[in-house]
Amino acid sequence: MKKVLSGKLATMAACGLLALATPTFAADHGGGHGHGGAVSAATPQSTIKKVIHGNDAFRHTHADNHFDAFQKGQSPALTVISCADSRVHTQLFDFEPDNNIFIIRNVGNQIANSEGSVDYGIHHLPTKVLLVMGHSSCGAVKAAMGDYSGETSGIKAELDTLKPVMEMDDQEGPFNDRWAQNVERNVDFQVNKALELYGDKVESGELAVVGAVYDFNNLWGKGRGALVVVNINGVNHPQEIMNHPALNELSKAEIVTHVGSRAQ
Ligand SMILES: [Zn+2]
Repeated sequence: MKKVLSGKLATMAACGLLALATPTFAADHGGGHGHGGAVSAATPQSTIKKVIHGNDAFRHTHADNHFDAFQKGQSPALTVISCADSRVHTQLFDFEPDNNIFIIRNVGNQIANSEGSVDYGIHHLPTKVLLVMGHSSCGAVKAAMGDYSGETSGIKAELDTLKPVMEMDDQEGPFNDRWAQNVERNVDFQVNKALELYGDKVESGELAVVGAVYDFNNLWGKGRGALVVVNINGVNHPQEIMNHPALNELSKAEIVTHVGSRAQ
């Protein structure tokens, strides 16, 4: 039995490695068309062990009463639609994650592929902010810029929804510049989609839709690891964003550090 299981796991691992080795979702770190990052040397067994040991460590540092406040329901103030990329996460906000962030993730941080989940966050919780979070060196955006006809039907379906973004690409200039600009265009596109769906809530002041890029490569010039706001409620010119009332509680220095664009 154990042998059969490990055989199956080995096959799954091999499939995973093959999937990671395709050019489309290679873990690039700012390079051009090539395969960037290294493939993990982890095995299924070592990864499962890490997960279970990590959970034990979490439980040892969180007493039973830690869960009391939210055992009967959630009350987050923030919905995030993020790319599923493993380099992107919500620890970058330095929030206690429990009961604070309603997070939806898919390739390319797209509303179209998880519209019902976003609806839930905005209509039913309801959160005060919808944060669309793109990121530097997004493999989904890069894949959508090229030929992905050899991908699975599932991947193709989730990249086809980025076509309107790619149509805004004028195909001019170095690839890496276009790639970063398309990341930002995608964030703008998703914010506009959110405004189509939740514009009435934005108008009444119940909701702010914030588009941002988590920039771990300093492509937006605000420093590595900065969350760069590129759009608020459809306003995407940095000067106008800096004066946006949604940022009223930030200092001038904070605003300058966190508002930017590669488009202007
Ligand atoms: Zn991505």
